[in-house]
Amino acid sequence: MSYVLSTRSLELAQTLVRMNTVSANSNLELIDFARDHLAGLGVRSRLTYNADKTKANLFATLGAGKKAGVIVSGHTDTVPWDGQDWSVDPLSATVQDWPQGGHDGEAVHAEPRLYGRGSADMKSFIAIALANAERFLESESPFAVHFAFSYDEEVGCFGVKEMIADMKDQGIKPLACIVGEPTLMVPAIAHKGVYRYRCCVRGKEAHSSLTPQSVNAIEMAARVVGKLRDMAEGFERDEPRYAGFDVPFSTASVGQFHGGIADNVVPRDAEFRYEFRDLPTADAQQMQKELRGYASRIEAGMKKVAPDAGFSFETICEIPSFLTTAEDPVTRLAQRLANESRTTLVAFGTEAGIFKNAGIPTVVCGPGSINQAHQPDEYVTLEQLARCEQFLRGLAATKEIR
Ligand SMILES: [Zn+2]
Repeated sequence: MSYVLSTRSLELAQTLVRMNTVSANSNLELIDFARDHLAGLGVRSRLTYNADKTKANLFATLGAGKKAGVIVSGHTDTVPWDGQDWSVDPLSATVQDWPQGGHDGEAVHAEPRLYGRGSADMKSFIAIALANAERFLESESPFAVHFAFSYDEEVGCFGVKEMIADMKDQGIKPLACIVGEPTLMVPAIAHKGVYRYRCCVRGKEAHSSLTPQSVNAIEMAARVVGKLRDMAEGFERDEPRYAGFDVPFSTASVGQFHGGIADNVVPRDAEFRYEFRDLPTADAQQMQKELRGYASRIEAGMKKVAPDAGFSFETICEIPSFLTTAEDPVTRLAQRLANESRTTLVAFGTEAGIFKNAGIPTVVCGPGSINQAHQPDEYVTLEQLARCEQFLRGLAATKEIR
């Protein structure tokens, strides 16, 4: 397969992959780089920071004075690689050929790939947008294009919420949004939500020979965990199936459970963490309400023994599900730009539901595969990068969204 990828896009992708922007770190090196790059073209960026100013979102409008147009959206953070077995340095941004073919007399050919953390998820998309910024500036489209690069997506989509709030404060009403998460350049029109919570259980300790004077935090926690399991089985049994997802119903699961200090002490404290992944047609907030309702009924009995016993819930992240249609103008635009007649559903959470809930028609479409994201030896093929570049250049030349 022949394709053309500009040297500039590849070099910029390598530059961004070489910056360590694991979510636990600052992302300012990347944000400053993008801001300077755009400033060199006369484009002003708006940065919105986290509370301690170690991380920022970048929002920039290319085509000042034009009507608000399409948002090109990407997150700047990556997942870590601790304990993963990589054959290349995750920050090396190495380009290597991978042999392909050779079956049934087929000729062997090399598939060039860019390796590194964030190469697929999702620095390459940001890099190609930046590398083609001039095209957006020179565009004869009546609409501006907006670059929206966020922080802390991988840990709960925290940055983008600040950026959207700021956009609203500025009175900017974009027509549509393209989130460049890895979908192999097939427009994705739905994903589940991801809702994570921590539940801390306070009981009352006692010598284990005196259980009636105690409130066993582990046992009370286990009742709520049991309820969660019942709910999960209920989703599997009763929910209308949503075809296209690997698991076509909502799920619930406990990821961590801690509690207890010794065999002969009734535990005062326990803690567990759990998640709901709701279908776009279900409602995780309702699920959480049901669970809390169940906990508060147990709590009444706990308080009879110890008034300060009970459950406290903390939100870790709430990433809403995403659902649009194949007929939506932005989906059709993405299909035309990607030269792709299909649409797909994805199994992972993205910022798309947050943009959509803010009233902005959204689609997910970007280079690389989620199968390589978060994995050792993460890579994206240069062919995918070339298709992404063609897609974004097409967007720059787009005069209407229909
Ligand atoms: Zn991602």
